[in-house]
Amino acid sequence: MRVLVTGGAGFIGSNFVRFVLREHSDWQVTNLDKLTYAGNPENLADVSGDPRYTFVKGDIVDRDLVRQLLASNFDLIVNFAAESHVDRSIRDSSLFIETNVKGTHVLLEEARHAGVSRFLQVSTDEVYGSLGPTGKFVEESPIEPNSPYAASKAAADMLCRVFWHTYGTPVLITRCGNNLGPYQFPEKFIPLAVSNVLEGKPIPIYGDGRHVRDWIYVEDHCRALDLVAREGQPGEVYNIGGDSERANIDIAKKILEVLGKPESLITYVADRPGHDRRYALDTSKIQRTLGWRCRYSFEAALEKTVTWYLENRSWWQKIKRPEYL
Ligand code: NAD
Repeated sequence: MRVLVTGGAGFIGSNFVRFVLREHSDWQVTNLDKLTYAGNPENLADVSGDPRYTFVKGDIVDRDLVRQLLASNFDLIVNFAAESHVDRSIRDSSLFIETNVKGTHVLLEEARHAGVSRFLQVSTDEVYGSLGPTGKFVEESPIEPNSPYAASKAAADMLCRVFWHTYGTPVLITRCGNNLGPYQFPEKFIPLAVSNVLEGKPIPIYGDGRHVRDWIYVEDHCRALDLVAREGQPGEVYNIGGDSERANIDIAKKILEVLGKPESLITYVADRPGHDRRYALDTSKIQRTLGWRCRYSFEAALEKTVTWYLENRSWWQKIKRPEYL
């Protein structure tokens, strides 16, 4: 199997590349990554010498490059490449439209011309918008994004849908909840919180801290992606989630408990504009049709994650900036 992964030097992409090289001895993986601030070759240093792995530095918006790459007959494209931080999208959404929308369009067009057998678009539960205190998103829920990031991912999902309906391009879409695990860039909530505590700094909490996200360990997400890529039905959408709804304030308290630090390190800051209150995913479709199950509880995942950031200080110290507070 010849696989083109885009954005494989980021958080989930690097975990996915490592996962599939371990699980499938016959997979050849090419990783196309622009190496933005969020892309880090160190994330895959352990597999860089593997003859089944090739790295190409480049932009998914670069049509000539994508066409040239796809001339070498890939069976599968897994598109992780994206601008992924909601706060950055609120400050300036231009790059989000460029990479997340235009980049996905370039990949779809070139995949169509090259006749790629399967195209997996890695999307997010944020495309569904916000939930009240009850209920869960199903795959048929309305698409009602509330941030520029979510809107750009929703637009990409719509393009995927159109390419399937209009051209028969074999596109699959996954929509996952919040991931935690190793190699997540230290501007995101959990690595920021853990690294701040390790630096003796406070954990910033938006608003009242009662914003709820549905968390999943990154390895469980990667296993689901691998399954959907191989066995999913083209044209279908699959929700992926850990069935672990947690409020940000409770996560901050748990991190402090694991690290043996006082709750006085929690600092409330002004809320994010348009901050979605709650996300929760119904994952019965992927469980019923593909037999996927989550293996890690949230507590086990958080302990593994905190331990990783404790043991890999030099990884985050090199890339963390003071303005991420
Ligand atoms: P990330 O920001 O850690 O990594 C993104 C990667 O894409 C980086 O390596 C970056 O260099 C690369 N990239 C950015 N623009 C590019 C371009 N134009 N061309 C080529 N490469 C480019 O993101 P992540 O958290 O690993 O998320 C990966 C994907 O999963 C994204 O599409 C995101 O929307 C989706 N997702 C993330 C989460 C989450 O909790 N992190 C949840 C659901 C879905």
